[in-house]
Amino acid sequence: MADPKDRFGTRCVHAGQSPEAATGAITTPIFQTSTYVQDGVGRHKGYEYARLQNPTREAAEANIAALEGGAHGIAFASGLAAIECLVKVVAAGGHIVSEENLYGGAVRMFTRVLNRLGIEVTLVDTRDPGALRRAIRPGETLLVYLETPTNPLMRVTDIAAAARIAHGAGALLCVDNTFASPYNQRPLELGADVVVHSTTKYLNGHSDVLGGILVLDDGALAGEVHFVRKSTGPVPGPMDSWLTLRGTKTLHVRMPRHNENGMRVAEFLQDHPAVRTVHYPGLLSHPDHDLAGRQMRGFSGMLSAELAAGDAKRLAEGTRIFRLAESLGGVESMVCIPSLMTHASVPEPERLRMGITDGLARFSVGIEDGADLVEDLDRALRSGRRTRNRRTSPALTGG
Ligand SMILES: *Cc1c(COP(=O)(O)O)cnc(C)c1O
Repeated sequence: MADPKDRFGTRCVHAGQSPEAATGAITTPIFQTSTYVQDGVGRHKGYEYARLQNPTREAAEANIAALEGGAHGIAFASGLAAIECLVKVVAAGGHIVSEENLYGGAVRMFTRVLNRLGIEVTLVDTRDPGALRRAIRPGETLLVYLETPTNPLMRVTDIAAAARIAHGAGALLCVDNTFASPYNQRPLELGADVVVHSTTKYLNGHSDVLGGILVLDDGALAGEVHFVRKSTGPVPGPMDSWLTLRGTKTLHVRMPRHNENGMRVAEFLQDHPAVRTVHYPGLLSHPDHDLAGRQMRGFSGMLSAELAAGDAKRLAEGTRIFRLAESLGGVESMVCIPSLMTHASVPEPERLRMGITDGLARFSVGIEDGADLVEDLDRALRSGRRTRNRRTSPALTGG
């Protein structure tokens, strides 16, 4: 078992896991069972039924809780299931103030599902403390919810400042830490009450699992989340829990390469004549670069770039190594067009107001060789250029 004083990489490999009791197996087994045989009526080993308890799931939960520096990890069948459970526990019948530039599926839940549960959501730009304060309704707002960096524009919100504002109004702060991963950013240490992850992304890291988790310190709140999870059922299966645990063991080895390749691709795109803007907190040109440098250890492999609409689509369809796909955080590089893919469910006027145009391409930079990734993008941008009349496409000329 890990010691709480262990450093991050040691926690990745060991936290939450001891050799299996019966055989000494070094790897936590996949307890692929729905129920557990009891010694007598009401006498059991702490395991009754798989919706309530599963040792593989519990190992993954303890491991990820340790990575976020939190006391409790509670895993779910998907990231959205984790978010839904949290809002049911902390915001039923109340009001939520949320960052507006969220994962598209979260926007859809907040605007089209929570209203059916009597939960009202106000979307704001949480980078602006004044806007956040104005949106909070004292006594009514129960939760402030944000992502940082955001999807897909990589906006950065000051977590410590948002925590002070939320707590001043008696609300909890939840931070979606999916884009940064706990290697790069630990919101609980900055004052957040709850961290949520789509473990589908960096934590699992191999594009073969769908999952989510909530990490928090408050024991009473964790008890409520456990109660609602067992009473509603959105638990991950043992195989998915095991794959997630296998993924987190190398998080500290994968993330530095994601960070390095992310920076390399961001710098390449920033210098390319077909690219208008690159959104990456690691660039000096990012409006919140200083803040990101203070609250993050690295900037991950997530970035987006603004091109002419046709160029973005051609780029996304023309790469060989970057795969055209939704999702992110896997070892393999991926590219997508948020307006047509991940954010297609956000109404167009909303999308455009936030800056999610058809020319925005989002990249999840993997852990391949960085030189190959840059060459891949360079080639795709060049082949687009050949098919166009240079004189009518000034964005593609020069350089
Ligand atoms: C993918 C994602 C989610 C949703 O997670 P699922 O596992 O797909 O349900 C939530 N937040 C962010 C930032 C994501 O990238």
